Amino acid sequence: MKCLLFLLLLAVPALAEFTVVIDPGHGGQSERHHSDGSQKGDGSSWNNATAAIYGYLEKDLCLNYGKELAWALHTSERAKKLKIRPILTRREDKHLSAMTRAAFAVEYGADVFISIHFNASHSHKAQGTRAYYCSADHPEWEYVHFKNPYADRDRAFATLIANTISTTLQPYGAKPGSAQAIGDSKTDGGHLKDGYRILGYARQDSHLYKAVMILVEIEFIDNPEVAAWLLSPENRNPARKAVAAAITKAICDHLETDQPPKNPRKSR
Ligand SMILES: [Zn+2]
Repeated sequence: MKCLLFLLLLAVPALAEFTVVIDPGHGGQSERHHSDGSQKGDGSSWNNATAAIYGYLEKDLCLNYGKELAWALHTSERAKKLKIRPILTRREDKHLSAMTRAAFAVEYGADVFISIHFNASHSHKAQGTRAYYCSADHPEWEYVHFKNPYADRDRAFATLIANTISTTLQPYGAKPGSAQAIGDSKTDGGHLKDGYRILGYARQDSHLYKAVMILVEIEFIDNPEVAAWLLSPENRNPARKAVAAAITKAICDHLETDQPPKNPRKSR
């Protein structure tokens, strides 16, 4: 009997306990008939910010950071012990709609959903990490008056990740105290509305009650000062690896201590 059990254990691969869906923002090419370069209507533009110096496109940086995070989660001993399975919504330079990105969270049963972006501002002078989550109440949501019953959890996770990234980037040049977790998009333009659309689509699926979902803007790459320290040849790779390692640690901290809410479908 013991021998049979042993054989059975060998035959069953280690199952994932937790799934982290990583969504590198943007991607692909602008559709020609949209003169502003967006892909309006599907909630996901091909690119948004461009670095003030070095010329990097946000979509490429998102993919680099996303892959680095997936690799860190795949190789970290702590993440392995927790049986974390990282899933990327894209691995190449291609466009995905907001709904497709959200569908990854649903299909793979995400415990954590992180959409990765880089920011830009009208003044080109803003700086700091921003992590966005769906507020409890969403009057600005375009299609329905959307409520997020898990806003407190999402806010706590957004705060954790924003502070983690900001602290990690301080040795490279990030200003202390510049991180923010933000739960409404009233003061921001269409780009964040698009981001919220991704979170909103995913948040409306009641199967994902255990998940925390955020969109993180690592830094403002249109600010020349930020681009100079974040994207310089000497800092670019170490900063990206440090951020991936720090987010991995924060995700492990969250999953180890998390007390997920009860399944809302069972309480009906
Ligand atoms: Zn973006």
